[in-house]
Amino acid sequence: MTVQKTDVVIIGAGPVGLFAVFECGMVGLNCHVIDALDAIGGQCSALYPEKPIYDIPGFPQISGAGLVEQLELQAAPFKPVYHLGQRVDKLEQPNGVGGGFRLTTSKGNVIEAGAVIIAAGAGAFGPNRPPLANIESFEGQPGGCGVHYLVRRAEDFRARRIVIAGGGDSAVDWALMLHGVAAQIWFVHRRDQFRAAPDSVAKLRALDGYGLDIVVPYQLDALEGGNGVLTGVTVKTLEGQTRSLPADALLAFFGLKSDLGPIAQWGMELDRHHLPVDPANCQTSVPGIFAIGDVATYRGKLKLILTGFAEAASAAHAIYPLLNDGKPLHFEYSTSKGTPGSGVKA
Ligand code: FAD
Repeated sequence: MTVQKTDVVIIGAGPVGLFAVFECGMVGLNCHVIDALDAIGGQCSALYPEKPIYDIPGFPQISGAGLVEQLELQAAPFKPVYHLGQRVDKLEQPNGVGGGFRLTTSKGNVIEAGAVIIAAGAGAFGPNRPPLANIESFEGQPGGCGVHYLVRRAEDFRARRIVIAGGGDSAVDWALMLHGVAAQIWFVHRRDQFRAAPDSVAKLRALDGYGLDIVVPYQLDALEGGNGVLTGVTVKTLEGQTRSLPADALLAFFGLKSDLGPIAQWGMELDRHHLPVDPANCQTSVPGIFAIGDVATYRGKLKLILTGFAEAASAAHAIYPLLNDGKPLHFEYSTSKGTPGSGVKA
């Protein structure tokens, strides 16, 4: 078992966790970031990548995906180590209080850190999997093949034959985005009505028969192929009539469920699925563990991305003396520090 060591582990690669990498980096702290999802960005990537956000300072309008891209760029000079597609299952203090933390992920990675920032939103995201035999064996395939619940880059699916299942905004929006990129799209829904923006539904219907076929009223029935290689998807009507759709990939958009899960077992005070913190520094009831963003609560808390950004700065400033023998941080504006990351070791 390899143990990796860092200054700070950030649980959650949502917008607030990503900005925490930057804030920690600015005070000289290295970070590892862990997320249950395969992609960074939390709710912005998973729930509304294409929707415009209007209340990010300095950006009159920016999409969820656009904001994540900017945050990733802003964090990059500090060389964060990302551990994606794995949930933090265990948090221990092997050397007692004040002696640092050891975190273990669902993939068995072990990371030791002096402090922990929990930026876990409503908890670890996981897909609502359709009940298909062996579906897990087709997940996580590279090159736009197999079963996916999120799309990070449309390009991954270039020239692939894709089944998109679901009737909401994500399914419809991605069908529109992938049209012209994928070789063929089968759009499968259990009824001929969609719970998506009417304008998008009209665009979808206009594409029917032109590289995109709307397959309704059908439900997913079985995955075809073997050894992790998907070759097609069988769909079925309520009356039992089946069709086999040749496909390299299935994109299943049945929503994501979130679950605070193991975090609730780590001995911190909880308040209705949130972590109460001291608003002055965002420390939880366990010294050395900080909470920021949607998961953190205090009197007057506003659940907004911009609030989380400020909390990230407070937490980073509070962690600095903890990891530097109590030495207080000499406060400096970013304008006085030079190019971000210029002092970071390769
Ligand atoms: P999240 O974005 O929820 O990210 C948390 C991440 O932590 C997730 O990726 C999760 O998988 C991961 N995680 C949790 N537990 C674990 C674990 N144990 N192990 C590994 N990973 C874990 N806010 C605004 O300010 N302006 C807006 O206009 C706006 N519009 C919105 C529109 C919609 C449709 C929605 C749904 C939300 C909107 N929000 C908006 C809210 C905003 O998205 C959230 O406030 C923000 O995403 C919170 O960021 P976060 O980093 O705290 O958490």
